[in-house]
Amino acid sequence: MITLSSLLGWLRLDHKIPARWQPAFSRYEQEVAWRTLIAGSAIAFILVLAYHSLLFSQGELSREGRMLELAFRAPILLLSAAVLISSRWLDLRKAAPILVRLLGLSGMLMILGLFSLQLEVGNQPLVRMSNGLLITFFGVTMAALRGVRDWPLLFGLPILAFALYHLFADTSLTTVPAYFFDAAVTMVLGTAIAEVLYQLRRSDFLHRQHLTESATLDPLTSLLNRRAMLPRLEGECERSQRKAAPFTVIIGDLDHFKRINDTYGHNAGDDMLRQVARRMEASVRKQDSVSRWGGEEFLILCPDTDLAGGQQVAEKIRQAIAIPPIVLGAESLTQTISLGVAFYRNGDKPESLLSRADEALYAAKASGRNQVITEDHE
Ligand code: GH3
Ligand code: MG
Ligand code: MG
Repeated sequence: MITLSSLLGWLRLDHKIPARWQPAFSRYEQEVAWRTLIAGSAIAFILVLAYHSLLFSQGELSREGRMLELAFRAPILLLSAAVLISSRWLDLRKAAPILVRLLGLSGMLMILGLFSLQLEVGNQPLVRMSNGLLITFFGVTMAALRGVRDWPLLFGLPILAFALYHLFADTSLTTVPAYFFDAAVTMVLGTAIAEVLYQLRRSDFLHRQHLTESATLDPLTSLLNRRAMLPRLEGECERSQRKAAPFTVIIGDLDHFKRINDTYGHNAGDDMLRQVARRMEASVRKQDSVSRWGGEEFLILCPDTDLAGGQQVAEKIRQAIAIPPIVLGAESLTQTISLGVAFYRNGDKPESLLSRADEALYAAKASGRNQVITEDHE
């Protein structure tokens, strides 16, 4: 059976967003919806008001006829006006995906309602309605931010409601399809364009995420790289200066790592580094950052943590790496790590803080390795 995703796959338009990027993609989609909402509301408000004023000025309709027409134009006018006014004070990003769809639905309500009115009352030529349908259907495809997926809600549901209403009202619908034809073609083309734009946004988003990741993550261990870690450290120093928020850094260096490479080969060494990285990540809290600072050297940043807390984290990491032994192919090896811990002092820059952590690490190496040493903190 042909499904939407198989069709998109065939067209090479199936850009899957990995689960870890879903939250960022949702934010991006909210931003797109918000911009569409503001632009769509402005266009809808001006056009609907202009059309209504035009018909009003032509004086063809009775007072009652004008009021009935206004009733169908009121929802989209009110909604777009409310969006434009409230967006000056409220951040509508979160609600934007829903509001955009509501705007589309209110457009459909307007045009199908007006069309029904002409079918029943017949005070305007249906051919004029045909143009209205065409323009409105095109406008509503702008609200189909998720392309074909939005079709059932924006078009399917309103058209079904329209058909059912007239079926029960016993209206003669024999002439209707001719008036709908151009609008239906516009709807199909517009929805196809909306789908292509949606897929382009997805592929563009994926491309940008890949670039960001490759610039900030170490390719071997997938930990943050030095380039990504340094600004965090600078930011944390500035934050502590302003708010007196304590934080701690830990530098860890694997013990006698050269031997692993020399004995088991470089690939085994790489595998060891990956496994060590996973154990480190599993030992820290969510707010801590773990980075690969150099070859087999790691830097961990622990915000809102004093020296004793940092020492605990370092000790946890030390134990997590040593036990249980790390399995490399047929070998099971106990790898140890030495760690130095330093605590932010007022006026510290990353270099001064790191050099104290380095001194502590050096002391840990000098006193026999496989241990945690904290800086002397006055
Ligand atoms: P120490 O206990 O004094 O730290 O001894 P060590 O052998 O670990 O000494 P050192 O820190 O100087 O050695 C680092 C070694 O780590 C040297 C290098 O071959 C290895 N290394 C660095 N980066 C990588 C890497 O990406 N993959 C592999 N397999 N090895 C690496
Ligand atoms: Mg080293
Ligand atoms: Mg080492």
